Amino acid sequence: MNIHASIQDLREALLPHRRAGRRIGLVPTMGNLHRGHLALVEAARAQCDVVVTSIFVNPLQFGPNEDLDNYPRTLDDDLTKLREGGCDLVFTPTPALMYPRGMANQTLVQVPEVSEGLCGGSRPGHFDGVSTVVNMLFNIVQPDVACFGEKDYQQLAVIRRMVQDLHLPIDILGVPTVREASGLALSSRNGYLSDEQRATAARLQGTLAELRTALEAGADIDTQLHQGLESLRRAGFEPDYLELRALDLSNVTATTHDAILLAAARLGTTRLIDNLALTLAR
Ligand code: AMP
Repeated sequence: MNIHASIQDLREALLPHRRAGRRIGLVPTMGNLHRGHLALVEAARAQCDVVVTSIFVNPLQFGPNEDLDNYPRTLDDDLTKLREGGCDLVFTPTPALMYPRGMANQTLVQVPEVSEGLCGGSRPGHFDGVSTVVNMLFNIVQPDVACFGEKDYQQLAVIRRMVQDLHLPIDILGVPTVREASGLALSSRNGYLSDEQRATAARLQGTLAELRTALEAGADIDTQLHQGLESLRRAGFEPDYLELRALDLSNVTATTHDAILLAAARLGTTRLIDNLALTLAR
């Protein structure tokens, strides 16, 4: 496995593969890798001849009061996991390499509609940072396939929309969320949780599962969402949002069958997100 910190080096390493017609897969990450990230590497491996993983804690997608400085950086550990996980090339740029003019003067990619509301509402500018850096990574790597986790459902929708709108010749592969036995979605931010908070954290998925059961049985949507928020608060969460949307993130209408519950909630200072798809009784 080769590690490249420069764009030029990475492009040179990819060139022979591209010339030989090999399929290139990209897995963008912010590092502190866990089994969820490795499931993306595995999904890329299954579809591609060459797998590139990027590790970049992207400052452009963090708000001024967010955890950029404290975000866990564990490069040596990450490289060991990627080597064992079947990754071929790792791209490890610095903020100075990605944003040589500084972030204030960076050209931005802004995806409308799907980036609004939900996490876009509670984290202003977050998805501009995501779509911009992912677009840069797409231009640097020029992958045939790129893998993203369904855990970050809105992010996946934003990337799909960006690829459609900008006519990028890249297949976007969504990978199911990898969870602990408790139901808690694996996340680099779980490391911030105390033992007690970690036990509570599983209630996020637990609450969504209870709502799914009720909604699939025909319960009233607004009543269930209200009860879900109350049940999250009782468990000790401070919810940012709990919403039901159609799978494309448009609003649910009287004819929507397939839908998705999406939630973000804080436990202390740690912000967790999760989602659960369901079929509405109609
Ligand atoms: P991050 O390093 O948190 O930016 O995540 C990098 C990629 O891994 C994103 O596409 C995430 O959606 C995905 N990911 C994070 N956690 C999980 C998980 N538990 N299961 C599957 N994919 C995940």
